[in-house]
Amino acid sequence: MKHINIPIFIPHEGCPNDCIFCNQRKISGHVRTPSEAEMVSTIEEHLQTVNPDDHCEIAFFGGSFTGLPEQLQKHFLKIVHRYVIEGRVKGIRLSTRPDYINTAELNLLKQYSVKVIELGIQSLDEEVLKKSLRNYSPQTAIDACRMIKDNGFSLGVQTMIGLPKDTLQKSIDTAKRLIELEPEMVRIYPTLVIKDTELAQQYFNNRYKPLTLDEAVLWCSLLVPMYEEANIQVLRIGLQDTVDLQKGNEVIAGPVHPAFGDLVYSKILLNHITNKLDSMDIRVKKVTIHVAPSQVSLVVGQHRRNINFLKEKYGFSHIKVKADQKSQKSVLFEFLD
Ligand code: SF4
Repeated sequence: MKHINIPIFIPHEGCPNDCIFCNQRKISGHVRTPSEAEMVSTIEEHLQTVNPDDHCEIAFFGGSFTGLPEQLQKHFLKIVHRYVIEGRVKGIRLSTRPDYINTAELNLLKQYSVKVIELGIQSLDEEVLKKSLRNYSPQTAIDACRMIKDNGFSLGVQTMIGLPKDTLQKSIDTAKRLIELEPEMVRIYPTLVIKDTELAQQYFNNRYKPLTLDEAVLWCSLLVPMYEEANIQVLRIGLQDTVDLQKGNEVIAGPVHPAFGDLVYSKILLNHITNKLDSMDIRVKKVTIHVAPSQVSLVVGQHRRNINFLKEKYGFSHIKVKADQKSQKSVLFEFLD
Protein backbone atom coordinates (compact mmCIF):
# COMPACT_ATOMS: atom_id res chain seq x y z
CA MET A 1 0.00 0.00 0.00
CA LYS A 2 1.39 3.38 -1.00
CA HIS A 3 1.42 6.11 1.64
CA ILE A 4 0.51 9.54 0.36
CA ASN A 5 0.56 12.81 2.28
CA ILE A 6 -1.38 15.75 0.92
CA PRO A 7 0.71 18.64 2.25
CA ILE A 8 -0.90 21.85 3.50
CA PHE A 9 1.73 24.39 4.45
CA ILE A 10 0.79 26.53 7.45
CA PRO A 11 3.39 29.19 8.20
CA HIS A 12 3.64 29.79 11.90
CA GLU A 13 2.50 33.36 12.04
CA GLY A 14 3.18 34.94 15.38
CA CYS A 15 5.47 32.17 16.59
CA PRO A 16 6.81 33.51 19.89
CA ASN A 17 9.93 31.34 19.71
CA ASP A 18 13.26 32.19 18.26
CA CYS A 19 15.00 28.91 17.43
CA ILE A 20 18.39 29.85 16.06
CA PHE A 21 18.14 27.77 12.87
CA CYS A 22 14.67 28.98 11.84
CA ASN A 23 13.62 31.95 9.76
CA GLN A 24 9.87 31.37 10.01
CA ARG A 25 9.33 34.54 12.00
CA LYS A 26 11.25 36.63 9.53
CA ILE A 27 9.47 35.26 6.49
CA SER A 28 6.00 34.85 8.00
CA GLY A 29 4.95 38.19 6.56
CA HIS A 30 5.82 36.91 3.08
CA VAL A 31 4.23 33.46 3.26
CA ARG A 32 0.47 33.59 3.31
CA THR A 33 -1.69 31.13 5.21
CA PRO A 34 -3.82 29.31 2.61
CA SER A 35 -7.50 30.24 2.41
CA GLU A 36 -10.21 27.57 2.71
CA ALA A 37 -10.69 27.62 -1.08
CA GLU A 38 -6.95 27.12 -1.63
CA MET A 39 -6.80 24.25 0.85
CA VAL A 40 -9.78 22.52 -0.78
CA SER A 41 -8.30 22.97 -4.23
CA THR A 42 -4.92 21.53 -3.10
CA ILE A 43 -6.64 18.52 -1.56
CA GLU A 44 -8.95 17.89 -4.54
CA GLU A 45 -6.03 18.18 -6.95
CA HIS A 46 -4.02 15.59 -5.02
CA LEU A 47 -6.99 13.26 -4.60
CA GLN A 48 -7.33 12.97 -8.38
CA THR A 49 -3.96 11.21 -8.52
CA VAL A 50 -4.63 8.87 -5.57
CA ASN A 51 -5.56 5.20 -6.09
CA PRO A 52 -8.32 3.68 -3.91
CA ASP A 53 -5.77 1.36 -2.27
CA ASP A 54 -3.40 4.18 -1.29
CA HIS A 55 -3.18 5.19 2.36
CA CYS A 56 -3.78 8.90 2.03
CA GLU A 57 -3.50 11.47 4.82
CA ILE A 58 -3.74 15.25 4.90
CA ALA A 59 -0.61 16.69 6.50
CA PHE A 60 -0.23 20.12 8.04
CA PHE A 61 3.40 21.09 7.64
CA GLY A 62 5.24 24.26 8.52
CA GLY A 63 5.11 25.78 11.96
CA SER A 64 3.84 24.35 15.21
CA PHE A 65 0.20 23.51 14.59
CA THR A 66 -0.83 23.21 18.24
CA GLY A 67 0.76 26.58 18.98
CA LEU A 68 -1.83 28.32 16.80
CA PRO A 69 -4.83 29.94 18.51
CA GLU A 70 -7.48 27.31 19.23
CA GLN A 71 -10.05 28.90 16.93
CA LEU A 72 -7.61 28.82 14.03
CA GLN A 73 -6.72 25.18 14.72
CA LYS A 74 -10.43 24.29 14.71
CA HIS A 75 -10.95 26.24 11.49
CA PHE A 76 -8.19 24.27 9.71
CA LEU A 77 -9.21 20.95 11.21
CA LYS A 78 -12.88 21.38 10.22
CA ILE A 79 -11.91 22.00 6.59
CA VAL A 80 -9.94 18.77 6.34
CA HIS A 81 -11.97 16.61 8.73
CA ARG A 82 -14.83 16.26 6.27
CA TYR A 83 -12.51 14.36 3.92
CA VAL A 84 -11.97 11.81 6.70
CA ILE A 85 -15.71 11.55 7.38
CA GLU A 86 -16.38 11.02 3.67
CA GLY A 87 -13.73 8.28 3.66
CA ARG A 88 -11.64 10.05 1.02
CA VAL A 89 -8.55 10.22 3.28
CA LYS A 90 -7.58 7.99 6.18
CA GLY A 91 -6.58 10.67 8.65
CA ILE A 92 -4.78 13.88 9.45
CA ARG A 93 -1.20 14.39 10.54
CA LEU A 94 0.53 17.48 11.83
CA SER A 95 3.77 18.65 13.33
CA THR A 96 4.37 20.67 16.46
CA ARG A 97 6.71 21.37 19.38
CA PRO A 98 6.95 19.23 22.53
CA ASP A 99 5.98 22.13 24.81
CA TYR A 100 2.74 22.65 22.86
CA ILE A 101 1.39 19.25 23.85
CA ASN A 102 -1.09 18.88 26.72
CA THR A 103 -4.20 16.86 27.51
CA ALA A 104 -6.72 19.48 26.34
CA GLU A 105 -4.85 19.84 23.05
CA LEU A 106 -4.72 16.10 22.46
CA ASN A 107 -8.45 15.82 23.17
CA LEU A 108 -9.14 18.47 20.55
CA LEU A 109 -7.00 16.69 17.96
CA LYS A 110 -8.75 13.38 18.69
CA GLN A 111 -12.14 14.94 17.89
CA TYR A 112 -10.92 15.77 14.40
CA SER A 113 -9.38 12.40 13.53
CA VAL A 114 -5.76 13.47 13.81
CA LYS A 115 -3.83 10.21 13.66
CA VAL A 116 -0.18 11.19 13.60
CA ILE A 117 1.65 13.85 15.58
CA GLU A 118 5.21 14.65 14.63
CA LEU A 119 7.24 16.37 17.32
CA GLY A 120 10.15 18.61 16.48
CA ILE A 121 12.42 17.23 19.19
CA GLN A 122 15.72 18.14 17.48
CA SER A 123 17.89 16.82 20.33
CA LEU A 124 17.54 15.35 23.80
CA ASP A 125 20.75 16.96 24.97
CA GLU A 126 20.22 19.78 27.45
CA GLU A 127 23.08 21.93 26.18
CA VAL A 128 22.18 21.53 22.50
CA LEU A 129 18.56 22.51 23.20
CA LYS A 130 19.72 25.51 25.20
CA LYS A 131 22.19 26.76 22.59
CA SER A 132 19.54 26.32 19.90
CA LEU A 133 17.10 28.44 21.95
CA ARG A 134 14.45 25.73 21.83
CA ASN A 135 13.27 26.73 25.32
CA TYR A 136 12.22 23.30 26.58
CA SER A 137 14.07 20.61 28.45
CA PRO A 138 14.76 17.03 27.34
CA GLN A 139 12.23 15.91 29.97
CA THR A 140 9.48 18.08 28.40
CA ALA A 141 10.15 16.37 25.06
CA ILE A 142 10.11 12.92 26.64
CA ASP A 143 6.85 13.65 28.50
CA ALA A 144 5.22 14.92 25.29
CA CYS A 145 6.22 11.74 23.44
CA ARG A 146 4.72 9.61 26.20
CA MET A 147 1.46 11.62 26.27
CA ILE A 148 1.05 11.26 22.51
CA LYS A 149 1.57 7.50 22.64
CA ASP A 150 -0.62 7.07 25.73
CA ASN A 151 -3.45 8.90 23.96
CA GLY A 152 -3.37 6.50 21.03
CA PHE A 153 -1.74 8.70 18.38
CA SER A 154 1.09 7.55 16.16
CA LEU A 155 4.25 9.40 17.10
CA GLY A 156 6.80 10.82 14.71
CA VAL A 157 9.99 12.44 15.95
CA GLN A 158 12.00 14.99 14.04
CA THR A 159 15.64 15.31 15.00
CA MET A 160 18.46 17.57 13.88
CA ILE A 161 22.15 16.78 13.81
CA GLY A 162 24.98 19.29 13.94
CA LEU A 163 23.24 21.98 16.00
CA PRO A 164 25.59 24.10 18.18
CA LYS A 165 27.34 21.92 20.79
CA ASP A 166 26.09 18.72 19.16
CA THR A 167 28.49 15.78 18.85
CA LEU A 168 28.20 12.37 17.25
CA GLN A 169 27.91 10.79 20.71
CA LYS A 170 25.13 13.20 21.72
CA SER A 171 23.18 12.43 18.57
CA ILE A 172 23.60 8.69 19.21
CA ASP A 173 22.43 9.16 22.81
CA THR A 174 19.40 11.12 21.55
CA ALA A 175 18.56 8.31 19.13
CA LYS A 176 18.89 5.70 21.91
CA ARG A 177 16.55 7.61 24.22
CA LEU A 178 14.05 8.25 21.44
CA ILE A 179 14.01 4.58 20.44
CA GLU A 180 13.04 3.72 24.04
CA LEU A 181 9.95 5.92 23.58
CA GLU A 182 8.86 3.75 20.63
CA PRO A 183 7.97 6.33 18.00
CA GLU A 184 6.57 4.90 14.78
CA MET A 185 8.64 7.18 12.56
CA VAL A 186 11.59 9.54 12.52
CA ARG A 187 12.99 12.29 10.33
CA ILE A 188 16.66 13.27 10.55
CA TYR A 189 17.65 16.72 9.38
CA PRO A 190 21.28 17.86 9.18
CA THR A 191 21.41 21.47 10.38
CA LEU A 192 21.69 23.97 7.56
CA VAL A 193 22.53 27.63 7.88
CA ILE A 194 19.56 29.53 6.47
CA LYS A 195 19.55 33.19 5.55
CA ASP A 196 18.01 35.58 8.11
CA THR A 197 18.58 33.35 11.14
CA GLU A 198 20.56 33.70 14.35
CA LEU A 199 22.60 30.71 13.19
CA ALA A 200 23.62 32.64 10.07
CA GLN A 201 24.89 35.45 12.31
CA GLN A 202 26.90 32.98 14.36
CA TYR A 203 28.25 31.39 11.19
CA PHE A 204 29.40 34.75 9.79
CA ASN A 205 31.00 35.62 13.16
CA ASN A 206 32.83 32.27 13.19
CA ARG A 207 30.91 31.15 16.26
CA TYR A 208 29.20 28.23 14.49
CA LYS A 209 30.67 25.67 12.13
CA PRO A 210 28.22 23.40 10.31
CA LEU A 211 28.91 19.72 9.74
CA THR A 212 30.66 18.95 6.48
CA LEU A 213 28.75 16.79 4.00
CA ASP A 214 30.98 13.80 4.84
CA GLU A 215 30.40 14.25 8.57
CA ALA A 216 26.63 14.52 8.16
CA VAL A 217 26.56 11.41 5.96
CA LEU A 218 28.70 9.51 8.48
CA TRP A 219 26.50 10.52 11.46
CA CYS A 220 23.33 9.57 9.60
CA SER A 221 24.85 6.26 8.46
CA LEU A 222 25.20 5.34 12.13
CA LEU A 223 21.82 6.70 13.27
CA VAL A 224 19.59 5.31 10.52
CA PRO A 225 20.39 1.62 11.22
CA MET A 226 19.66 2.21 14.92
CA TYR A 227 16.11 3.31 14.09
CA GLU A 228 15.59 0.70 11.39
CA GLU A 229 16.72 -2.13 13.66
CA ALA A 230 14.08 -0.94 16.16
CA ASN A 231 11.45 -1.06 13.37
CA ILE A 232 11.07 2.72 13.36
CA GLN A 233 10.39 4.00 9.89
CA VAL A 234 12.89 6.60 8.67
CA LEU A 235 10.63 8.97 6.74
CA ARG A 236 13.22 11.43 5.62
CA ILE A 237 16.95 12.13 5.85
CA GLY A 238 18.12 15.49 4.57
CA LEU A 239 16.49 18.73 3.64
CA GLN A 240 13.65 19.91 5.91
CA ASP A 241 10.19 20.12 4.36
CA THR A 242 9.98 23.79 5.23
CA VAL A 243 13.19 24.47 3.33
CA ASP A 244 11.77 22.55 0.36
CA LEU A 245 8.49 24.29 0.39
CA GLN A 246 9.49 27.90 0.76
CA LYS A 247 10.90 29.27 -2.40
CA GLY A 248 12.47 32.32 -0.73
CA ASN A 249 14.66 30.22 1.52
CA GLU A 250 18.36 30.34 0.93
CA VAL A 251 20.83 27.92 2.37
CA ILE A 252 24.04 29.76 3.20
CA ALA A 253 26.09 26.82 4.41
CA GLY A 254 25.82 23.28 5.69
CA PRO A 255 25.67 19.73 4.41
CA VAL A 256 23.10 20.18 1.66
CA HIS A 257 22.99 17.70 -1.21
CA PRO A 258 20.12 16.89 -3.59
CA ALA A 259 20.54 13.13 -3.02
CA PHE A 260 21.54 13.22 0.64
CA GLY A 261 19.49 10.11 1.49
CA ASP A 262 21.22 8.10 -1.24
CA LEU A 263 24.64 9.17 0.09
CA VAL A 264 23.61 7.93 3.54
CA TYR A 265 22.28 4.56 2.32
CA SER A 266 25.39 4.15 0.16
CA LYS A 267 27.55 4.73 3.25
CA ILE A 268 25.45 2.29 5.30
CA LEU A 269 26.04 -0.40 2.66
CA LEU A 270 29.75 0.41 2.59
CA ASN A 271 29.89 0.09 6.40
CA HIS A 272 28.10 -3.26 6.13
CA ILE A 273 30.50 -4.53 3.43
CA THR A 274 33.64 -3.42 5.28
CA ASN A 275 32.39 -4.99 8.53
CA LYS A 276 31.99 -8.30 6.70
CA LEU A 277 35.29 -8.07 4.84
CA ASP A 278 37.14 -7.12 8.02
CA SER A 279 36.11 -10.45 9.53
CA MET A 280 37.47 -12.44 6.58
CA ASP A 281 40.98 -13.50 5.65
CA ILE A 282 41.19 -12.10 2.12
CA ARG A 283 44.07 -13.26 -0.08
CA VAL A 284 42.59 -12.67 -3.53
CA LYS A 285 42.56 -9.67 -5.81
CA LYS A 286 39.16 -10.04 -7.48
CA VAL A 287 35.70 -10.00 -5.93
CA THR A 288 32.11 -9.96 -7.15
CA ILE A 289 29.64 -8.44 -4.73
CA HIS A 290 26.10 -9.76 -5.11
CA VAL A 291 23.39 -7.35 -3.93
CA ALA A 292 19.68 -6.73 -4.43
CA PRO A 293 19.03 -5.08 -7.84
CA SER A 294 17.79 -1.89 -6.16
CA GLN A 295 21.11 -1.53 -4.29
CA VAL A 296 23.64 -1.83 -7.10
CA SER A 297 24.16 1.91 -7.61
CA LEU A 298 24.24 2.53 -3.85
CA VAL A 299 26.97 -0.09 -3.38
CA VAL A 300 29.00 1.39 -6.22
CA GLY A 301 28.55 4.88 -4.72
CA GLN A 302 28.58 8.29 -6.35
CA HIS A 303 31.50 8.57 -8.80
CA ARG A 304 32.42 4.93 -7.84
CA ARG A 305 33.43 6.24 -4.44
CA ASN A 306 32.75 2.99 -2.58
CA ILE A 307 34.49 0.85 -5.19
CA ASN A 308 37.59 3.03 -5.06
CA PHE A 309 37.55 2.92 -1.25
CA LEU A 310 37.29 -0.90 -1.19
CA LYS A 311 40.06 -1.29 -3.77
CA GLU A 312 42.36 0.87 -1.73
CA LYS A 313 41.52 -0.64 1.65
CA TYR A 314 41.65 -4.33 0.67
CA GLY A 315 44.01 -4.19 -2.33
CA PHE A 316 41.43 -5.53 -4.81
CA SER A 317 42.37 -5.06 -8.47
CA HIS A 318 38.87 -5.78 -9.72
CA ILE A 319 35.46 -5.38 -8.08
CA LYS A 320 32.22 -6.26 -9.84
CA VAL A 321 28.83 -5.44 -8.33
CA LYS A 322 26.14 -7.80 -9.56
CA ALA A 323 22.35 -7.52 -9.20
CA ASP A 324 21.07 -10.69 -7.59
CA GLN A 325 17.43 -11.33 -6.64
CA LYS A 326 18.61 -13.82 -3.99
CA SER A 327 20.52 -11.08 -2.14
CA GLN A 328 17.45 -9.13 -1.05
CA LYS A 329 18.52 -8.82 2.55
CA SER A 330 22.22 -9.51 2.47
CA VAL A 331 25.42 -8.87 0.60
CA LEU A 332 27.18 -11.95 -0.77
CA PHE A 333 30.80 -12.13 -1.91
CA GLU A 334 32.31 -14.29 -4.62
CA PHE A 335 36.11 -14.22 -4.49
CA LEU A 336 38.18 -15.05 -7.58
CA ASP A 337 41.89 -15.71 -7.85
S1 SF4 B 1 11.36 26.18 14.57
FE1 SF4 B 1 9.17 26.34 14.98
S2 SF4 B 1 9.06 27.03 17.09
FE2 SF4 B 1 11.14 27.47 16.41
S3 SF4 B 1 11.03 29.59 15.69
FE3 SF4 B 1 10.67 28.24 13.93
S4 SF4 B 1 8.44 28.08 13.78
FE4 SF4 B 1 8.92 28.88 15.81
